[in-house]
Amino acid sequence: MDTKDYIYLDHSATTPVDPKVLDAMQSVLLKNYGNPSSMHQLGQEGAKLIDDSRSQIAQVLSSARSEIVFTSGGTESDNSAIKGASFALKEQGNHIITTSIEHHAVLHTCEWLEKFAGFDVTYLNPNNEGFISPEQVIDAITDETTVVSIMYINNEIGVIEPIAEIAKALKEYQEKHNRKIVFHSDAVQAPGWLSLDVEELGLDMMSLSAHKFYGPKGVGILYIKEGTPYAGYINGGSQENNRRAGTENTAGIVGIGVALSLAEENRPVVVPHVSKLRDTLLRGILKIPNVYLNGPESDGRVANNINVSIQGIEIESLIINLDMLGVAVSSGSACTSGSVEPSHVLLGLGLPKDLSSTSLRITLGKDNTEEHINMVQDNLPNIIDRIRYLKKG
Ligand SMILES: *Cc1c(COP(=O)(O)O)cnc(C)c1O
Repeated sequence: MDTKDYIYLDHSATTPVDPKVLDAMQSVLLKNYGNPSSMHQLGQEGAKLIDDSRSQIAQVLSSARSEIVFTSGGTESDNSAIKGASFALKEQGNHIITTSIEHHAVLHTCEWLEKFAGFDVTYLNPNNEGFISPEQVIDAITDETTVVSIMYINNEIGVIEPIAEIAKALKEYQEKHNRKIVFHSDAVQAPGWLSLDVEELGLDMMSLSAHKFYGPKGVGILYIKEGTPYAGYINGGSQENNRRAGTENTAGIVGIGVALSLAEENRPVVVPHVSKLRDTLLRGILKIPNVYLNGPESDGRVANNINVSIQGIEIESLIINLDMLGVAVSSGSACTSGSVEPSHVLLGLGLPKDLSSTSLRITLGKDNTEEHINMVQDNLPNIIDRIRYLKKG
């Protein structure tokens, strides 16, 4: 399809590739096809490109270069972090703490560990705005706890979890009790919106994915702090310092380096631009009767996210109606085989089932404009009216 006039408001699902990222990748795909493990020049050129990308990323994260591992995306990074740390610490204990509002890449990994590997998992429920507190985390620790995984920004409701405060509380606990608990965060929604400084955040592990910040699909990052117990389970060659085997995705790795640098560089301009558009649109949407905001009001909410429950509608109808106008948005709920399941995140906040099945998620990006917002403002009330009217029969 021609996307020229398309109004894309689903940036938490994925983003388009930035032309600068494409440029860098195209040249690599055409010219630097050598295997980075090969000794000849072409191979060594590839290895150098990967090194350079690692430096770019280490700079944004304020980490050491050796702490960056390239993966196939956010899902792999989450799997590797939680499985890798929990298996490495299996002698010490079998308890993992996470939250009920994580992405499925974390939740289903934890469920797998319970089902097939004998781990126990505590799923913390947030308060009604979506926040997890440091006290909650500390209270959930048992003698067996080895891994805590809590997302930085929730992909449905945009709530920003207090990662640095949780890290501080965990650090105090560990010093007092003299044992290691690995702290991981799924930070896939954060680049371009918040600082990724791992020192300030106090993380041992962090997951990122290029396609959420104008990079290509199929490449991600797992930050692993020096000294963190880790048993990599993608075994094979000695790539990525024996932490993740497989011939490197050179072009993707170059792409993620450029994309992350750009996201960080543009952040001071993009955040105020987008949050202004978001606030205007949100004010308009909340004027529609029986529409309720999910997640926090503005403090503790990422700049680009709107999530509302719209009483008395079918969310698929709304999404299709907007799509026909050339506007792409998302429902907070997964659509499986024709029926809309309530969102596990909204259920986790304590919302009733009906409101958890009718959520609309609008996630803005750096290239959205006032015109885009106006298009939604001008059409949404009528579409909702019509769907409600038809539903009543
Ligand atoms: C998109 C997303 C993922 C999965 O990343 P992929 O690269 O698509 O595998 C994980 N966690 C969060 C919070 C996400 O938004």
